[in-house]
Amino acid sequence: MSRVTLLKMHQGVAVSPGVAVGLAYRVDSVLAHDAPEFLSGPEQVESELARFDQAVSKAIEEIAQLVEKVAEQVGRNEADIFGSHLTLARDPSLLSSVRHKIRQESRTAPSALTEVVKEFAAVFARLEQEHFRERLADLRDVVARILIHLSDDGEIGGLKGLAANLSGVKEPVILVAHELLPSQAMSLDGLKIAAIVTEIGGTTSHAAILSRSRGIPAVSGCSEIMAEVQSGDLVIVDGREGVVLVRPDAETTSAYRKVQREFFQLKDRLVLNRDEPAMSRDGIQVELLANINNVADATAADVVGANGIGLFRTEYLFITHPNVPDEEEQYQYYRRTIEAAPNKTVTIRTLDLGGDKTVPYLGNRYEPNPFMGWRSIRMTKDHPKIFLNQIKAILRAGLHGKVSMLFPMITNYDELRQINRLVDDAKKELSDAGVSFSRDVKKGVMIEVPAAAVCIDAMLREIDFVSIGSNDLIQYLVAADRDNPKVAHLCDPLSPAVLRVLQMVFEACRRTGTPVTLCGEMAGQPRAVLVLFGMGLRRFSMSPAFLPTIKSLLSSVTSAQAERFAHHVLQLKTSDEIRKYISARLSEVSKDLGMFDFN
Ligand code: PEP
Ligand code: MG
Repeated sequence: MSRVTLLKMHQGVAVSPGVAVGLAYRVDSVLAHDAPEFLSGPEQVESELARFDQAVSKAIEEIAQLVEKVAEQVGRNEADIFGSHLTLARDPSLLSSVRHKIRQESRTAPSALTEVVKEFAAVFARLEQEHFRERLADLRDVVARILIHLSDDGEIGGLKGLAANLSGVKEPVILVAHELLPSQAMSLDGLKIAAIVTEIGGTTSHAAILSRSRGIPAVSGCSEIMAEVQSGDLVIVDGREGVVLVRPDAETTSAYRKVQREFFQLKDRLVLNRDEPAMSRDGIQVELLANINNVADATAADVVGANGIGLFRTEYLFITHPNVPDEEEQYQYYRRTIEAAPNKTVTIRTLDLGGDKTVPYLGNRYEPNPFMGWRSIRMTKDHPKIFLNQIKAILRAGLHGKVSMLFPMITNYDELRQINRLVDDAKKELSDAGVSFSRDVKKGVMIEVPAAAVCIDAMLREIDFVSIGSNDLIQYLVAADRDNPKVAHLCDPLSPAVLRVLQMVFEACRRTGTPVTLCGEMAGQPRAVLVLFGMGLRRFSMSPAFLPTIKSLLSSVTSAQAERFAHHVLQLKTSDEIRKYISARLSEVSKDLGMFDFN
């Protein structure tokens, strides 16, 4: 693979691997607007109110059409994102606040709307700084639609023009934005996008999830990028290193173009390994599983030949639902997902809300440290019925395939006992009601809180399997927010502390013969996989997009080689030393696959 010397660069967070060279296309703030702020006289109030109502109706109509289109073309779950936009567009408190400002303050509809959003944003300001607040992004999205219908030319901040403008371009463009809203992200489908660069948003933002699952290189956390880049500027995006180069010189450009070409060729070659067995060069079998968020992802997992679903994040069903989905809705949804992964084990994770994933209907309150707070399984005490219904739905769905149940964020043995009681109650309720369900659903816990890793022995007796959530385990271990670009360097999967804790968990599972999977992002990162395989891990769960690469990597290494690498790595004192050493080993084992690393 070519070597490239970096010139001037922006360092961000690598959220989706790959390299792209192309012309920038700026998506400016959807709320930018230069219409007059105030009405010229009170006689205009009524007509302004009518104009506002008309724009809202048009936006609602448009969103309803979008829901249908997305459901048909992408999937029900993605469509539900816009279902929640419909609820926002009809929100009585939002609409009446805007009307109030038009009537009482003589504001024009656009300025009243913009003011109301600012007030909402101020309430969430602290949370928004620390985490990418999806709900606020959704609100901005809805407001942008209404603003478009209020503007004379039906065009604000490039949102509406995105598809039209890009339809004419010959070469794929590099999308540069402060943030990417959900509807913008969805409207990228079928457009010529070479890469995405944003100023904010961590690895769990919609843009990151979307670009990763579609294989679009992306970098976030480039805080100054909008001040520097104009549409039409030449930009290089290196999604492996989180680097963005603006207006590079000819030599750098041609070097990166070569890397980009090689990247595409390699990707095309790798997907051909779908039907090959997942094993190392010396024939040690591994299980390569997929992380999914919805039914469409389950299909993608099947396309790349995943051995099963290692992590089904059910909270996306809740986030995109206007209220708590009931037992029957969940059962149907899980059943569809299981049927989209025929004959494979599907590991359904129970609700993991809180942290950066919130829903208004669960009464999520403001918390100074949401990741350290009322999150996930910790909500069970306050909402036992929600968890009970979910467990019932999973037990029923178990009749349609091989299903496992996975409990996230378990901190101690007491929580596990509480969950076990809930599972018993769910079984009893179903039996009493004469509803059939599977008695073969296996139970597992996620090890993602360091306390659980330390005291894992007590839990292993009561569960069938373990899944390590390295994303959270790392952030809690090193006390650094996983979505904050400023401390991203600390959230390093290849740090000595992380590897030692993993070694401890692997060892405990080995002693008791408990199957263990790792389902955090590091399971899709070639360097990390090399070390994990050498440490004895045999089950990896990752975004389907990474699976062909990891399969190819493991087929190029023997277990003895990997064990040697891991043994050496575990003696090293710093992340830098580890990274340097393992990068060199990776290029010996497979000179190409370093392309696909992104952390
Ligand atoms: C993890 O923490 O590693 C994990 C897989 O769960 P999530 O990313 O959904 O928190
Ligand atoms: Mg987690």
